[in-house]
Amino acid sequence: MLRAVEESPQGASGALIEISGAGKTYRTKGGDVRALDGIDLSIADGEFVSIVGPSGCGKSTLLRILAGLDDCTDGEARMEGRAISGPPPGVGVVFQSANLLPWLTVRQNVELPIRVGGRHDRSTKAEELLSMTGLEGFGDRFPYELSGGMQQRAGICRALIRNPQMLLMDEPFGALDALTRERMNLELQRIWQSSNKTVVLITHSISEAIFLADRVVVMSSRPGKILRDIPVSIPRPRAFETILSNSEYTRLSRDIRKLLNAQGGVE
Ligand code: ADP
Repeated sequence: MLRAVEESPQGASGALIEISGAGKTYRTKGGDVRALDGIDLSIADGEFVSIVGPSGCGKSTLLRILAGLDDCTDGEARMEGRAISGPPPGVGVVFQSANLLPWLTVRQNVELPIRVGGRHDRSTKAEELLSMTGLEGFGDRFPYELSGGMQQRAGICRALIRNPQMLLMDEPFGALDALTRERMNLELQRIWQSSNKTVVLITHSISEAIFLADRVVVMSSRPGKILRDIPVSIPRPRAFETILSNSEYTRLSRDIRKLLNAQGGVE
């Protein structure tokens, strides 16, 4: 299955992900909650797409639909031309909290997704990932011995252990302090540049969204619709020291802030 994903990464339209007319209504005891409405979005193989929008506008819902953890109630979401129903192979997900299992070592946590599959090459792979994310030597430690940033890096290793074609990230650095967050942004840029994975990143940070992405998708307040899909052409690798004085960065920051303020802000 993963082989098929690697050999034929695109659907008929040429996009890896195609979402058309997608909507989501949650039926609750208190009534219906319309979370998403009329979402049309294509994502090419290898693209890095950031999604920003006001709190509660349906960003996580959209990510869960892409991850196969939730369904659209109307429209459709496809990966490689096939409707997403259940978690597709070749997709790794990172949430805001790493949610490492406290009774397992860091290495065992990272290997968890493949322990079930019974593959044998896991130790080498886990060590490679741990060293790539600066966690070399921490494989035998337990989660409580790691800082928040290190735990989050371990969570990213776990999402990468099956070499997913697509990485879905829901506010993965939200709980980190500013400096650790910048370091993680650089790390993610490096991982993305060296692996050509498709990444969809939900973030509340406009600067993080622009810094990392090929495109920033700006959503309206609930029910979430796509307000703008903004290309970012700032050359890579990008650096925090220089991006602040980049004219495209400044312009995009201002435009996105204006759009979000008109929706009542990013939070
Ligand atoms: P965001 O990630 O942009 O903050 P969410 O996708 O988490 O937004 O939520 C969008 C809306 O859907 C919110 O109003 C939220 O309360 C509602 N919602 C999310 N998940 C559920 C659920 N499982 N049941 C009912 N309502 C939900």
